[in-house]
Amino acid sequence: MTKSKGLILIVEDNLTNMKLVRDVLHSQNYETIEAYTGKEALKKASEYDDKIDLILMDIQIPEFNGIEVAKILKSDKNLSLIPIFAVSAHVMENDIQKALEAGIDEYIIKPINIANFINKINLFFENRL
Ligand code: MN
Repeated sequence: MTKSKGLILIVEDNLTNMKLVRDVLHSQNYETIEAYTGKEALKKASEYDDKIDLILMDIQIPEFNGIEVAKILKSDKNLSLIPIFAVSAHVMENDIQKALEAGIDEYIIKPINIANFINKINLFFENRL
């Protein structure tokens, strides 16, 4: 079995998008855990805390939005160091500004371009080492 490159928490409420992102990440040898709501994202983040290498955060999710979840995570001293990439169709200047203010590290625009997406994630993990 190939060695895992890292553990990624996918926060996404759309089953089709979740499957796409999961399949792409698995094809690149990342391990994934999943959350479908803001509440679930917070629960999974505390459960796995420092084992999580990256959070991919949909912005439109039930119970809190992704920005609110990011703010809560970034204000928790045990979880604030986990990098968060927003993955969202919201491309208003204002939304990106809000995401950056919430401590979101990177903004990936939906629908995702798979090659670019893979590149971005792999680069992030390579540069982290
Ligand atoms: Mn959504």
